[in-house]
Amino acid sequence: MNHNIHAIRSEISATVGERDLSGVRAELDQQRRFRVEQLDVLKADAAEAVATGDEPRRQVTQELRLAAQSALTEIDAALERLEGSSYGTCERCHESIPPERLEVLPTARLCTHCQFRTENGRSRGGRPARTPSAGRSGQRAWVGS
Ligand SMILES: [Zn+2]
Repeated sequence: MNHNIHAIRSEISATVGERDLSGVRAELDQQRRFRVEQLDVLKADAAEAVATGDEPRRQVTQELRLAAQSALTEIDAALERLEGSSYGTCERCHESIPPERLEVLPTARLCTHCQFRTENGRSRGGRPARTPSAGRSGQRAWVGS
């Protein structure tokens, strides 16, 4: 089956702004079906690669399967959040995720800001997010006086 993702996307942009999540659900259902089919195809590919002793192809297929599997996990998690009505809320700061972001990435768990900080933290190898601020100790005198 050939899915026209662009057609689906433009359909969503009309609905998600009004917090009507039926379009998002349809998109996620569609993506889910796509991934399940893809995993079926890749499973057959992997079996064929093993049967023919095609090691490079087996490795590529294995990587694609892992990617498809993790995408499917994300989709399932997003569908679960839709059921539980926590969908569209950032898991870190609990702010609403902008509808424009959900249009592009229906499986988003974090708002743009938190996602950026998460990715930044990862790529810089755990550099502290906050710089310690000097001159705060003086404020303690005011507390409880
Ligand atoms: Zn956030």
